[in-house]
Amino acid sequence: MSNTRRKQVRPVVEHEDGTTSKTPTRDGRPLLNFRAPRVTQPPRHFADMSMEERQEAVRELGLPAFRAKQLSNHYFQRNITDPALMTDIPADKRDALAEAFFPPLLTEVHRLKTKNGDTIKFLWRLFDGALVESVLMRYRNRITLCVSSQCGCGMNCPFCATGQQGLTRNMSTAEIVEQVVRANQVIAAGELAPTAEPDINMLGEQAAAVGDESGETDAGADTGNDSAGAKPSGTQTPAGEERVTNIVFMGMGEPLANYKRVMNAIRRFTDAAPHGLGMSPRRITVSTVGLVPGIRKLMNEDIPVTFALSLHAPDDGLRNEMIPVNTRWNADEAIDAAYDYYRTTGRRVSIEYALIKDMNDHAWRADLLAKKLNARGRGWVHVNPIPLNPTPGSVWTASEPKVAQEFVDRLVAAGVPTTIRDTRGQDIDGACGQLAATGED
Ligand code: SF4
Repeated sequence: MSNTRRKQVRPVVEHEDGTTSKTPTRDGRPLLNFRAPRVTQPPRHFADMSMEERQEAVRELGLPAFRAKQLSNHYFQRNITDPALMTDIPADKRDALAEAFFPPLLTEVHRLKTKNGDTIKFLWRLFDGALVESVLMRYRNRITLCVSSQCGCGMNCPFCATGQQGLTRNMSTAEIVEQVVRANQVIAAGELAPTAEPDINMLGEQAAAVGDESGETDAGADTGNDSAGAKPSGTQTPAGEERVTNIVFMGMGEPLANYKRVMNAIRRFTDAAPHGLGMSPRRITVSTVGLVPGIRKLMNEDIPVTFALSLHAPDDGLRNEMIPVNTRWNADEAIDAAYDYYRTTGRRVSIEYALIKDMNDHAWRADLLAKKLNARGRGWVHVNPIPLNPTPGSVWTASEPKVAQEFVDRLVAAGVPTTIRDTRGQDIDGACGQLAATGED
């Protein structure tokens, strides 16, 4: 089948005043909002601080510096967030430590689990009432947490529930980190069920290969021990405990618009234990809609994370509508920056492409995408088309499976490694921002 001649259909949007348009409503908000409003950040938390800052802060409380290391071990390695449970810390100091370092950051408002229990979506309330989400997903040999980096988002992508909320504020470093620590608590409590799903990462690699590449101790050689009930080795720490092995910045917000705090959080994730979580940078994916200066800054950091560009359209005509930031940095500039990320870091990059019915899923667009990627070189990129997880009531829907398959086939035929993704958690409002958009419960 060929979908070359299929028309592109722009959905008609009906506004409250009865008028219609073929571009999404902007609700009077600016098209793009790069700067979060100057609102109060949460109180300083242990995870906001580097080890040196923790040592200094511990001394200020009249404790020797080595207590900072003990506290770090509890928080990052043992997922303990309440000093009352840190029994090797002097009992008469625990209250002061709780007050100084561990203000409550995330209150769990709601938790949704898929039927098979291998995916859990959390809705958290932050100290100022803002709502954010994280999604925990078990695969055969890894456990991935999708984290939020902003409350809402200023990028205004019309097909995205978060984009429709606008930007409330940037999340703090500790608010980002705490999503992982809380997820680790849930995993340790045995609440994330085993899965039968295959384990292909963002770059189309088997998890075992990723682990080998990362040189991690929990690399997870595929032992074949993946039967239900068994703990896949790739998800275990050397101590045999299961925890989050992969983090993707694909929740609410544009991570490169909150650059400093996101980088700080990445340092907490990658700092060696007990200073941080001791994760490999390769297991952390930063995804952007194409903030080119941010991409260039990221490629020159000393932490070579996995990089993903949410492209969604190879042509500016359509991408200007789907990803308003394209009017600032166009598709070619974003692809150039992604290619430079590869050349600078040696890390193959991932192109994300939400397949939307009759919108961006045409065969000619697959061909154009392949042409643009191949024009930069071979072997530097992997494409991940993902059928859109639609927002309820939205005019945007997922591509037909046959159309999606042809899109993939054309890329593969052009020599571009491509893996179609399953959307996880459709039965739990899987698309980012849907839970926060619908309120508490
Ligand atoms: S798709 Fe990403 S960048 Fe666009 S509005 Fe949604 S969260 Fe923001």
